[in-house]
Amino acid sequence: MKNLGFILFVTLLAMISCNSNYSEKKTKPEFVLVIHGGAGTILRENLSPEKEEAYLNKLNEALLAGENILKTGGSSLDAITEAILIMENSPLFNAGKGAVFSEEGIVEMDASIMDGRSTEAGAVAGVHTIKNPILAARAVMENSKHVLLTGDGADSFASKQGLEIVDSSYFFTEDRWKSYKKAKAENEIKKYGTVGAVALDSYGNLAAGTSTGGMTYKMKGRVGDSPIIGAGTYADNNTCAVSATGHGEFFIRNVVAYDISALMKYKELPLKEAADYVILDKLKNIGGSGGIIAVDHEGNYTMTFNTPGMYRGVVTSSGLIDVKIFGETEK
Ligand code: ASP
Repeated sequence: MKNLGFILFVTLLAMISCNSNYSEKKTKPEFVLVIHGGAGTILRENLSPEKEEAYLNKLNEALLAGENILKTGGSSLDAITEAILIMENSPLFNAGKGAVFSEEGIVEMDASIMDGRSTEAGAVAGVHTIKNPILAARAVMENSKHVLLTGDGADSFASKQGLEIVDSSYFFTEDRWKSYKKAKAENEIKKYGTVGAVALDSYGNLAAGTSTGGMTYKMKGRVGDSPIIGAGTYADNNTCAVSATGHGEFFIRNVVAYDISALMKYKELPLKEAADYVILDKLKNIGGSGGIIAVDHEGNYTMTFNTPGMYRGVVTSSGLIDVKIFGETEK
């Protein structure tokens, strides 16, 4: 009887200590939104203080717009769409308004989106009249039987969907034209950014989206990783949501976004380890420059890149908001 009392006492103590351990565990954030505006040779000495401020402000604006959706019970899909729209409408980033010019001096934009809940996806490639390619990618996912539409077919689908179609003059920016002229004179394809967003919403659903103008002076018809599901974009509620930026050919060959998800699924690696391995080890070793943003189903996130900088930012329901441009890969 005395023993039984002792056993009960010990059991009670164990239960109390388990409970306090539990409450000390990192609590799962209700929502997380991570965005990027492209990775590359982004050095402080090449960016004027005014330009730097403009980038930080625009990243903040995109985060706050997405946060507003997530904190009022909106979906991760809506939050990433809104954040990407804001970056597409800015001439600062290589997507939508600020898209770079291809060999023929026109824009050929790529975009994709994926819903982690259903693993449904939509994408467009080589479009040149759609104001917001991310909306076209979403329309492909939601209103067509297909995953990827290209060129004129994608442009006319977007028009039939009632999306805004613009004249080629809309995409003209002095900066991008200068870069195109330089690339043409040097006969050299230049790498140049992308925008993307990933989110976890309060229902536990993940989503990822990516939009880009690709590379300056790229060949007509060249398609990068951004509209390729598994390469530039991937989302699965069981693992993570990923959006990539960098030298697209390497990201396609290494199926980067899916590789990170697969390492989590089959090798049970934590998100950061999976992303570090793919970006800082595997890709870096073969000369594949770039980075990713990702969030997992528990709200852990990472912004991992092997370039000098990446325009990036994060906002979470615990009140964290942070935007950065330069420096090392962090958490
Ligand atoms: N990944 C994009 C592409 O290759 C470009 C970039 O992100 O810089 O089209």
